[in-house]
Amino acid sequence: MYKRSVINPSHLESELFTRCSRRCELCAGTDELRVHAVTPVTEVSAERCAVVCGACDAALDGADALDAASWDGLKDAAWSTVPAVQVLVLRLLPRLAVPWATELLGQIYVDDDVRAWADAGAVGSSSRDDDGAGGGHVDSNGTPLLEGDSVTLIQDLDVKGANFIAKRGTLVKGIRLTDDPACVEGKVNKSVIVLKTRFLKKA
Ligand SMILES: [Zn+2]
Repeated sequence: MYKRSVINPSHLESELFTRCSRRCELCAGTDELRVHAVTPVTEVSAERCAVVCGACDAALDGADALDAASWDGLKDAAWSTVPAVQVLVLRLLPRLAVPWATELLGQIYVDDDVRAWADAGAVGSSSRDDDGAGGGHVDSNGTPLLEGDSVTLIQDLDVKGANFIAKRGTLVKGIRLTDDPACVEGKVNKSVIVLKTRFLKKA
């Protein structure tokens, strides 16, 4: 599991607090604001940190399902241009498990490196180890995925290199697990492609 950095140089803090106008960058709340270095921490810079309130901060490290009613702020936060905030939103939305969150997840556009960063942290999450998944492959709802399972896509996926879009609702039978818990392999349109588990639902 990745450790959160506790380095808060004062100039960084003042830069961040100016950026966020002293509001939580996830929910716009103002209580117990703090600098959260988004995992995995490779450097402590404004780009890699978000200002969050105490309540949001407490929820960030787990992988448990969250009460969507408390996370309305993500509808705005999803359009942040700050990479660290984008990563947090990408990790939080799947945990809400409600239609608007899934839809929003499909609408957000982020750079590939931000996407990779979001995935990198998800792999290190520890709470998933506790629910019997053994830290292995789980779908967008946290349901464990096993070799040979069937899954459906919960959103349209642009398949790089294969030049087609795998449609939301597509059933993929007989998935294969990969070494990366964030990905499985499956056959769509007669091509074997790598599928991100957070876009899948066990059928
Ligand atoms: Zn907050």
